[in-house]
Order: sequence, then structure tokens, then C-alpha cells
Amino acid sequence: MTTWLHGKVIEKKQWCVDLYSLKIKTTPLQFKAGQFVNIGLQVDGKVLARPYSLINSPDDSVLEIHFNSVKNGKLSPLLTSLAIGDNVQVSDRASGFLTLNEVPKVDFLWLLATGTGIGPFLSMLKTPELWQDFKKIILCYSVKSFEKLVYRTDFDTFQSQHQNQFCFVPFITREKIDNTIHSRITTSLENGMLEKQVNLKLTSDSNHIMLCGNSNMIADVTALLENRGMSRHTRREPGNIAIEKYY
Ligand SMILES: Cc1cc2nc3c(=O)[nH]c(=O)nc-3n(C[C@H](O)[C@H](O)[C@H](O)COP(=O)(O)OP(=O)(O)OC[C@H]3O[C@@H](n4cnc5c(N)ncnc54)[C@H](O)[C@@H]3O)c2cc1C
Repeated sequence: MTTWLHGKVIEKKQWCVDLYSLKIKTTPLQFKAGQFVNIGLQVDGKVLARPYSLINSPDDSVLEIHFNSVKNGKLSPLLTSLAIGDNVQVSDRASGFLTLNEVPKVDFLWLLATGTGIGPFLSMLKTPELWQDFKKIILCYSVKSFEKLVYRTDFDTFQSQHQNQFCFVPFITREKIDNTIHSRITTSLENGMLEKQVNLKLTSDSNHIMLCGNSNMIADVTALLENRGMSRHTRREPGNIAIEKYY
């Protein structure tokens, strides 16, 4: 049974019509960058809850989530109508294995996200371990339109702080925008455009890939990487691919 912490919304940001972030104050909650909590609201006398990745640094006492309003979804539309000062419930434990301590020793870490799947990676980018452990971090962030490419100032800051270590590659699938790739992540891996852009080869040698977001991207990229001899990573059977499916 879940034990719930009492949370209060202290900041709300609407990025575009269906994309939001909330900052939530709770009693302290320990987690590893990349993990998620259940966020719940009281509905008809019961807690209606769904998992959401924490995007803040584990050192930050205020929790932050980033989410989209799913049409006809049960919880996410209710989260969008929360106001500052409103109560939410937060599971007292964070879960998930899409975390840096699960990554084998490699030089190159590839982080591939669609939409709100950027969440776990935002948290990781805020930890010192990430910058200590890898020679290069390649972040591919795919969205449909430019307005959905959020947290851009954070990526600019990481880029200026870690110029030779961080490659940020934004993908916009439904609009042509300068300095972004106008295709799906899968297509740019298939045709070699991504590796050409970052000047690296994505092989099973010294590369680890984390995938987060929708299941189509995860299935397609996993199949493509398996064709290159890579495999899913588990503690028992080390491989190169770690995933977190949102839906
Ligand atoms: C481990 C984990 C972490 C997650 N972290 C996040 C997060 O950080 N941010 C976030 O926005 N979501 C996240 N999700 C998805 C989230 O938990 C909910 O599923 C989502 O908010 C929809 O909930 P709902 O109650 O509104 O819709 P529901 O009533 O539960 O479902 C309606 C339908 O919408 C589909 N759906 C679920 N999510 C999406 C989506 N994002 N876009 C389109 N369709 C969707 C479902 O497949 C379902 O068929 C995560 C899911 C998992 C498993």
C-alpha cells in the first residue's frame, strides 16, 4: 500500500496549450535522478494517482514534475487545473531503474527522449555525477513543434558550462526550425544523420543508451540498436540499452 506525503503546489507553469510543469513542496523525499513518484489527487473519496518523473535535482527540496494533458485522461487534465496552494499527494517512495548508478562504465552516454520523456534526463543533467562519469553526453530531445521544446534555457546553460562534453540535439518532427533536426530520432539513427551531427559512432563499444517517452520510439530504437549488436541492460546481464516507457 502506498503511503502518501502531503504536498502543496508552490509554482505552476503552462508552456503551451497542453504542456505544464508543477513545483510541489512536501516533507523531504530521497530519490535518485531519473526516478519517478506517484502523484495523486482525492477524487470521489479515493486517491487517483499516476507515476511522474521527478525533474528536479535530488539535492533540491522542492519537487518538480513536467507533464502533458492527455485528452480524456483521468488524472492529467485534473493536474492542469491545480492552482498555487492546492494540495496533491505524493508517494513517500521514488521508484525506477533509469538511473546513473545502473549504467556500466562507458565513455559515451546517449539520452533519447520524446516529449515529456525529457523529465528523467533533466534531473540527471543537474547532478555532478553525470559530468564526472562520462566523456560525452548526447541528449536527443524530440517534440512535434517548437513550442513543445521546453527547458531550452537549461540546455543552453548546460551547453555553456560543458561545451566539449555536452551535445544537445533537438528534433522537431512537424516543423522546420533552424538548428534542429526535422525528422524522428529513429530515422536519423537509421540514415546516420545523428552520428554525423555529433561526430560519434553509436556502437556497442563504450556507449550506453537511455530511452524515455512513448513506446513507439522506444520499440523502434531498441530494434534498430539490437540489429547493431546491442542489448537491453540488466544487472544480471549487462547491455547497452535502458528504457522507461511512459505509455
Ligand atoms: C514510470 C512512468 C513515469 C511517467 N512519467 C511521466 C511524466 O514525467 N510526465 C508525463 O506527462 N507522463 C508521465 N507518465 C505517464 C503518466 O503516468 C500518465 O499515464 C499520463 O499522465 C496520463 O494519465 P491520465 O490519468 O490522464 O490518463 P489515463 O486515463 O491513465 O490514460 C489515458 C490514455 O492515455 C495514454 N497516455 C498516457 N500518457 C500519455 C501521454 N503522455 N501522451 C499521450 N497519451 C498518453 C495511455 O496510454 C492511456 O491509453 C509516466 C508513466 C510511467 C509509467
